[in-house]
Amino acid sequence: MKPHILLVEDEAKLAQFVQMELTHEGYQVTVAEDGITGLTQARETHPDLILLDWMLPGLSGLELCRRLRDTGDKVPVVLLTARDDVQDRVAGLDAGADDYVVKPFSIEELLARVRAHLRRTHEPDSEALHFADLMLHQGSREVSRGQRAIELTAKEFDLLVYLMRHPRQVLTRDRILEEVWGYDFMGDSNIIEVYIRYLRLKLEESGESRLIQTVRGVGYVLRD
Ligand code: CA
Repeated sequence: MKPHILLVEDEAKLAQFVQMELTHEGYQVTVAEDGITGLTQARETHPDLILLDWMLPGLSGLELCRRLRDTGDKVPVVLLTARDDVQDRVAGLDAGADDYVVKPFSIEELLARVRAHLRRTHEPDSEALHFADLMLHQGSREVSRGQRAIELTAKEFDLLVYLMRHPRQVLTRDRILEEVWGYDFMGDSNIIEVYIRYLRLKLEESGESRLIQTVRGVGYVLRD
């Protein structure tokens, strides 16, 4: 079955071009030209991935994403945005987006990210990972510390899986980008700091000890 991608984009020419390329790659593509239509389509058709423009008539991409997440929808969302400063990136993460492509983007870059996100959702793995009091079930995507259940976004989950598969190993930022993002990330690698910060907040919410340690100038390590 072809993966279904919902493209929410109001620039008709860009939408047409991206749709053509994605179709050529073997995806089934639906295009919505405004936020409200996009949200309705997302809810009714349950796409495998959403490519979501930030600036949309009716309902912004950010708001659309937030509303989807509010109802527990975990579909991978890649924001298409001309905005590239840190504040905007954080706003996107806050809204529950998994990734960004900054306009103007190359179609190869976009396709690589689509593949990376689809691969992740289509790799069922029921293996459970443990570290200290942290437990993660890859199949059910449940995460907990002790008795406390933790809700993670798709990308936070992927990052934690990667860290838990390499406990006590110092992981460089480049390696994390390559393994977790799954492509040569062209943007600002500060994105890792943002995700690590989010993960720490969630993992330490009840005053638990820090498990993700910073190795200055190098990267991160999962260590008690
Ligand atoms: Ca737009």
